[in-house]
Order: sequence, then structure tokens, then C-alpha cells
Amino acid sequence: MEYSDIIIIGGGAAGMMAAAGAAKVFAGSGDNTQAQPGRKVTVLEKMPRPGRKIMITGKGKCNITNTRPWNDFSAHIHPKPNPLKAAFYNFSTADTIGFFNDNGLETVIERGERVFPASHLAKDVVDTLVRAVSASGATVRTGCTVSSVSVSRDICIPGKEAERSMFNIRCEDGKEFTCRKLIIATGGLSYPGTGSTGDGYRWAQDFGHTIKRCFPSLTALVPEGYKNFSVRGSQPEGGRGTDGNTPLKGHTDRSLPLSETGASLAGNQLKNVSLTLFTDGTPVQEEFGDLDFTDGGIEGAIGFKVSRKCVNTIINGSKAAVSIDLKPAVDITALDKRIATLWQEIAADPRSRGKSYNDRFRVLLGKLLPATLVQGFRRCNQNIDHKTLAARLKNWKMNICGFVGYERCVITAGGVSTDEITAKTMESRLCQGLYFAGEILDLDGDTGGYNLQTAFSTGMLAGESAAKSILK
Ligand SMILES: Cc1cc2nc3c(=O)[nH]c(=O)nc-3n(C[C@H](O)[C@H](O)[C@H](O)COP(=O)(O)OP(=O)(O)OC[C@H]3O[C@@H](n4cnc5c(N)ncnc54)[C@H](O)[C@@H]3O)c2cc1C
Repeated sequence: MEYSDIIIIGGGAAGMMAAAGAAKVFAGSGDNTQAQPGRKVTVLEKMPRPGRKIMITGKGKCNITNTRPWNDFSAHIHPKPNPLKAAFYNFSTADTIGFFNDNGLETVIERGERVFPASHLAKDVVDTLVRAVSASGATVRTGCTVSSVSVSRDICIPGKEAERSMFNIRCEDGKEFTCRKLIIATGGLSYPGTGSTGDGYRWAQDFGHTIKRCFPSLTALVPEGYKNFSVRGSQPEGGRGTDGNTPLKGHTDRSLPLSETGASLAGNQLKNVSLTLFTDGTPVQEEFGDLDFTDGGIEGAIGFKVSRKCVNTIINGSKAAVSIDLKPAVDITALDKRIATLWQEIAADPRSRGKSYNDRFRVLLGKLLPATLVQGFRRCNQNIDHKTLAARLKNWKMNICGFVGYERCVITAGGVSTDEITAKTMESRLCQGLYFAGEILDLDGDTGGYNLQTAFSTGMLAGESAAKSILK
């Protein structure tokens, strides 16, 4: 049995920052000086290297954080930002940038206030974190898959005064660890190949915590007819809920082949379009920006923005649909006029002589849409002519029948209820000495660096609070 003052399960963004924070408090300074002799901070990480997920962030470039002030930043945090506020102010965006700069990583701020390593290499972010944690005196033990967690005394009674508690941690290979303060930072369920397989939810439940329903967010939305469901029978339900068993309604495996319609749309990247999400026919969210059709379905900045609400709609058994406005800068009357003029020009063009209506209509579409989109748009909008085209360009409706699951979503929404966590310390209200940090919490952000900042802020606060409470 190996003893540490603080053990952190999970060497991801939150866990590594928690280790740096705890060791810094033990060292009694804000620098990278060694942890106070005799004090031990240990990270247990199941993968051969820490920070596996960070390596794939921001398409390998890692969007570390976002410099928007709290008032703007908080609008990008779900389901409610308040539980993050104390952690954010304790370790803000500027602190994150300072932390990486002080540890030798240059950063740059780009469009949308997004911060990246100047090298645009996620690997450099991981290396910097590993270096900083090791310089702080904390230890990272890789290849340690924690299989069970327990507390040695029955201290899980809310409101009871501090009893000296000991947490016991067992790994799959039989190794055992014990500690006074335990931080669970095992992440969510997305990209399980990175090590994030939701193990922490089970332990949180064992300690009496409520797990808010988990679901994939920042994920591809699958329009009806986009995938070839006949290849593997009907609509698959292969996703799973937090308990690992319950099928996730609407989950559509990313690897399911595209239908002919899907294949004709995939690869198109639409700039500056509008996307409106409908729940049971009612518009609930409208976004403007870039949208991509991919092998998964609808993605891109605005696809991801509406994905949280859309997935929720489907899981709740309601009907989800989207409408794309391909010409948001022009109103329908002006667009109608423009199409009428184009139609006359095409009719008057000598090259149109002898051409069928369909051929001329294709020429018209070619003048209004990117060439690669014409076929797919046509397939999805079969009963239109030049008179009804304007309305369809401004309101291209698609029913959404599913979404890509944890296998390829960016973030897990839901998790450990923040109502049961003290926001000023990240300590459990139900079990003294137990802390949570990162994606395991019921906190998820939009794309733009919000999720890593959430992991860094909650990790740092959990680490500092755990160490301070030992020194008290
Ligand atoms: C493709 C992709 C791109 C992304 N891009 C960005 C981006 O650019 N900017 C941004 O802000 N966010 C991005 N995110 C989100 C961001 O990566 C996560 O929110 C963040 O990494 C969460 O950090 P975490 O430490 O809480 O969890 P994780 O990073 O998931 O770390 C959890 C760690 O715990 C370990 N673990 C789990 N179970 C055990 C166990 N039983 N025993 C021991 N160890 C265990 C895992 O191996 C893992 O290393 C992206 C996510 C994905 C999937």
C-alpha cells in the first residue's frame, strides 16, 4: 500500500493542473519549486502517457483557452455557468496563459479570442504540462488503471465535522494506494480510445453523488436519409447512457456508410450561412456562421453550436429538424427578383437553345450555389422550380434523425451534479476530502477553448483546495 497526501485519478487537463496546483501550495510559492519535503502528490493515469486527449484537441493544434471576460465566457458554459465562476476567478484565462508562458510555451491569440500554442502543436501543450507537473514535485504514474475507490471510515455524512479519513485506491494490476485527499478527474465518455471511459461516474455514485444524464455534445447531427441504415438493419441504438448499458436513443454510429444523398453532400463546407434548430416544429436556436457536411452529418461551428439542444431533443423523444438559410444576407423578395433575372438571362443565352428545363435549372443552381453542392441540394429538394427556389434556398429543411455518439463527439454533457460540489473548493458536499475536476462534472462548453479552460480552472482549484485543507 503506497501513501500520498493527495491522489489524483486521471492525468488529463484537469488532473495535471490539479497536481501542479496542489504541489504549488505545498511548496508555499507560485513558482515551480519542489513540493514541501514529506508531502506527496500523485497522479494515477491509465494510459501510457498523460494528456492523451489533449493531443487530439483543436485538430491537433489545441485551442487552450479563450480570452473573453467572464461575462462573455460564461455564456458558453452549460447547463449553467455559476458553478464554474469561483474556479474561473481563482485560475482565469490570463492565469492559464501565464502558466503555459512561464513554463516555456509561447501562445498566440487568434480569431474569436481563441488561444493556441504558437507552434500550433497540441503535443507542446502536453509536454509543457508534464514538465510543469514534474518540476512541481508531483509524480505521475502512468499505466495505472484504477478499478475501485473506497473510503476507510464512514465519513460520508453531510454536515459532520472533519474526521481523519483515508481513501483506498485499487488498480487493475493489484497495486494499492492510500491518500487523505482524493481528486477524481477521469473526464467524460467521449473518444474512449484516449482513456476517458467514464470510470469516475461509478465511484461518484458510490459516494452518493447524483450523475446528471450524460449525452454527447459538439457532435455531428445526422439528417434523415443521410446514412445508409439498410446496411446494418434499422436505425442503430448502439450508444450508451452513463450506466454503460442503456441505449442512447438516436445514436448513429459514425462508421455507418453514407447514402447516395449523404455522399452527394459530404465534403461541402458552407461559409456564412444561417442554421435554425426546431424542436417539435418550434424554432429554438438560430446560429450564423460556417457549416460542414461530413461523413458524420452536419458539423462545423454552427452545427456544433446547435448540437447540444438537438441531441437533447432527440433523446427526449421530440422531433428535431434544422433549416439552413443559404442566402442570409438577402431577403426573399430580393432573392426572388435576382433568380427571375438570372432565369431570363439563361433563357436568352444561345447556349440554352435545345436544352431541357432540367438542364437550364441546373445552370441556374450553378449560379447560386457552390458547384459541389448542386447535386446534393437537388436530391434533398426534388419538387422545386425556378419560382419556388428562393424560398428553398432560404429555408432548406432537414429532419434530424440521429447524432454521432461518444465515439467521435467533442464533449460529454451531463455528469456529477454541481449542486453537490462546493464551488469555492471543488470539494464534495457529501464526502469530505473528495474533490472533482474537469469534464466529469456537469459542465460543458462550446467550441473555442471553453472546455480546456473549464478543466484547467476546476483542476487548479481542486488541487489547491485539497492541499490547503491538509496544511490547515
Ligand atoms: C476531438 C476533440 C477536440 C477537442 N478540442 C478542444 C479544444 O481545442 N479546446 C478545448 O477547450 N477543448 C477541446 N476538447 C475538449 C477537451 O479536450 C476536454 O474537455 C478536456 O480534455 C477534459 O479534460 P479532463 O482532464 O477533464 O478529462 P480527460 O482529458 O478526458 O482526462 C481524463 C484522464 O483520466 C484518465 N482515466 C480515466 N479513467 C481512469 C482510470 N480508471 N484510472 C486511471 N486513469 C483514468 C484518462 O486516461 C484520461 O487521461 C476537445 C475534445 C475532443 C474529443
